[in-house]
Amino acid sequence: MALLNILRAGDEVIAGAGLFGGTIDLFGDLAQFGITARFTDSITAESITPLINERTKAVFTELIGNPKLDVTDIRSVAEVCHSRGIPLFIDSTTATPYLIRPTEYGADIVIHSASKYINGGGNSIAGIIVDSGKFPWNAGKFPQFDEYRIFGKYAYIAKLRNGFWRNAGACLSPFNAYMCSVGLETLGLRMERICDNAKKLAEHLQTLGGITVNYPALESSPYHALVQLQLGGRGGGILTIRAGSREKAFLLINSLKCALIATNIGDVRTLVIHPASTIYLHSTEEQRENAGVYDDTIRVSVGIEDIGDLINDFENAVKRSRENG
Ligand SMILES: *Cc1c(COP(=O)(O)O)cnc(C)c1O
Repeated sequence: MALLNILRAGDEVIAGAGLFGGTIDLFGDLAQFGITARFTDSITAESITPLINERTKAVFTELIGNPKLDVTDIRSVAEVCHSRGIPLFIDSTTATPYLIRPTEYGADIVIHSASKYINGGGNSIAGIIVDSGKFPWNAGKFPQFDEYRIFGKYAYIAKLRNGFWRNAGACLSPFNAYMCSVGLETLGLRMERICDNAKKLAEHLQTLGGITVNYPALESSPYHALVQLQLGGRGGGILTIRAGSREKAFLLINSLKCALIATNIGDVRTLVIHPASTIYLHSTEEQRENAGVYDDTIRVSVGIEDIGDLINDFENAVKRSRENG
């Protein structure tokens, strides 16, 4: 809805190849309506510059990629976008509004899947679109805004509420809205705990041999400095483990006692999944690798459990997979 509010046939969007699988699929759906997604490895000022042309109408990225866990440097990307009259869309689901407000760094439109951390209990499907109100929808590039420019900084939202969204019927049920607003009340507490747990678990897993760990707040991560700068050192709740082989990954997952096997993220319970055989089953190998998904990758969405329990559980599972995998 956020993108369809501004896109027309013939338009192009520059997007990160490491996006959430469902979003990549959605760009595939849009192709039949004449909208082209140009994927680049990760969204940076350098990677998007050569892809911009007169048909480019948006740059779309995740702040912390799910599951690639690459972190977007919002300021530098926004600068390039704005110098070319293009809005920057950020999916900030995995970072949550508690860790960062991307509009303060130059993002124009921010979206969240509220089904995840905002809800916190995995009991509703919901989403949020936030408009900074600052993007000038200039007449040359966005003539469809002509009748909405009178709304000033509300032009984008006015168009959204009066146009495609209203007619397409993406209406949140009152009960799901209620569940999300109950969840929202504890978002801050949960994120403090989740980020703390995720960092401690990642640090501990890193000391075990035979596996590699990806978590953006780790000192070993190429995004460590950016996490300090944009997210106050908190790397969110998702980490990925490479177990060494597909068999070892399965054995590790099946040996866990605390974690649930589920596709969701952002729950109070720790959730694990083998992305290559589930959410990325229909992707090509190239798409998978661009998203940081290998045959031995396990995605962990860390919950609010006792950290000692989590560390014991994962340590035992890693040992079992090493010995028997
Ligand atoms: C889950 C997810 C979505 C899609 O959200 P739904 O609420 O399931 O429609 C989009 N982006 C990211 C980063 C997600 O994790």
